[in-house]
Amino acid sequence: MRHLVVADIHSNLAAFQTVIDDARQQEGFDSIWCLGDVVGYGPDPHDCIALLRRYKHICIAGNHDLAAAGKLDTRDFNDEAAYANHWTAHQLTPDDTAYLVSLPIRAEQGHFTLVHGSPRQPIWEYLIGQHEVMANLTCFNTPYCLVGHSHVALVFEQIGENRCMRHRLSSGETILLGQHQLIINPGSVGQPRDGDPRAGYAIYNEESNKFVCYRIEYDITATQVKMRKARLPQSLINRLEEGW
Ligand code: ZN
Repeated sequence: MRHLVVADIHSNLAAFQTVIDDARQQEGFDSIWCLGDVVGYGPDPHDCIALLRRYKHICIAGNHDLAAAGKLDTRDFNDEAAYANHWTAHQLTPDDTAYLVSLPIRAEQGHFTLVHGSPRQPIWEYLIGQHEVMANLTCFNTPYCLVGHSHVALVFEQIGENRCMRHRLSSGETILLGQHQLIINPGSVGQPRDGDPRAGYAIYNEESNKFVCYRIEYDITATQVKMRKARLPQSLINRLEEGW
């Protein structure tokens, strides 16, 4: 089985469709593992949910998904994120909302634990620094954990009792799934924040035990034009081409 691993699609249909097409041309995939935040920020929340649901998949709830479904208060969001989230809630069909409400906040798939933020705090915690990563290594029972939320393509590897390595992932890079515990973020499909505006994703192949990360260009302008029409905040439009 091959799994397409995606996170933080954020209603960016152009990016999501490009990722699916690109993954098909790489080694292909049998199912999608989505690490949350299908919606929020971008212009196509319904279409992104519909596209995901066309495939065999498992999807974890992200903070934006729960807020758009009315399950989480947007008081903890910044102004632009909250505005976009209220706009998003109005674009969803009742079936979309029911789907978002139904999402689990944590799942295990073979050797992997799947969460949005962190295994310790699945909804809110960002895993960026070594300190919080060390505290999280005891919070999952599988060898590897997949996270999203920070929108930064990263892998953390435990290399001793009190140490872990942090490594930024580049396109085409294969992560070795060995004996050490790993926390992997495949990067964001729809709103990368690591200085590289290209959409990020990964493919995990169970048979070859390979986990390969990719970055792919998509039509950023197409998404920006839709956001302008929807009168979504200018800063959210600009950041797509800047990759932050
Ligand atoms: Zn996100």
